[in-house]
Amino acid sequence: MRTKVKGLVVREKPNGENAKLLTVLTDVCGLITVNARGVRKISAAYLKSAQLFAFSDMLLYEKNGFRTLTEASLITDFYALREDLGAYSLACYVCEAASAFAVPGEESAGILRLALNTLYALENKSFPEEQIKAAFELKLCAEGGFPPDISVCGSCGEKLSGARAFDLRSGTALCGGCAPEGGEMLSLSEPVCRAAEHIAGADMQKFMSFRLPGPDLRQLSGFAERFLALCAERDFKTLKFYKNCKELK
Ligand SMILES: [Zn+2]
Repeated sequence: MRTKVKGLVVREKPNGENAKLLTVLTDVCGLITVNARGVRKISAAYLKSAQLFAFSDMLLYEKNGFRTLTEASLITDFYALREDLGAYSLACYVCEAASAFAVPGEESAGILRLALNTLYALENKSFPEEQIKAAFELKLCAEGGFPPDISVCGSCGEKLSGARAFDLRSGTALCGGCAPEGGEMLSLSEPVCRAAEHIAGADMQKFMSFRLPGPDLRQLSGFAERFLALCAERDFKTLKFYKNCKELK
């Protein structure tokens, strides 16, 4: 069976002498594994499409559950991401986190588009890195079916306004009356709450467009990172890699 997909290479590893095993985030098949033969030779036709962060039109041949790349036409390779360790390591995290929310075999066009828009923003430095990261994290949760709803108290249902607390144990915002003493809480300022709501609600062209002063941006960043880990129910080793790279800077 032949399948045409648009796909972003989120992981690559050598497979035998000249082949690569690619993990590809696609529009119509979710996250898939593709064998790309002969692509470790410099003369290979699809060399550029078989590299990390390459986004291509791909033609796949599928037999007995195994997929092989038969044709590829590169759309963009996000090459500039390889030239800056900070942006590179963050792009690796974007790929790993997006993969965690894409279901194999299911349409994942929204998650693919989010990953592509985020890599584009990183490559072009459209916004501060911390802002791109936080906006990506919260939007990914929303796309994956876990929109960060901090508009009501998760315990009593009271409508919340202004600054509020986010309870890491229940994964909800809590009003002053319901917030436990000494619980594991993050405080969220009013501008941070507005930014989080903007990210979840805005379309793919605009979700990164907001302005926050430095301390608020750091607060948003901490919240977004913890919220994503809660929704995904896992840690990401690429996030540790990104933080290590940032410390080296
Ligand atoms: Zn309450």
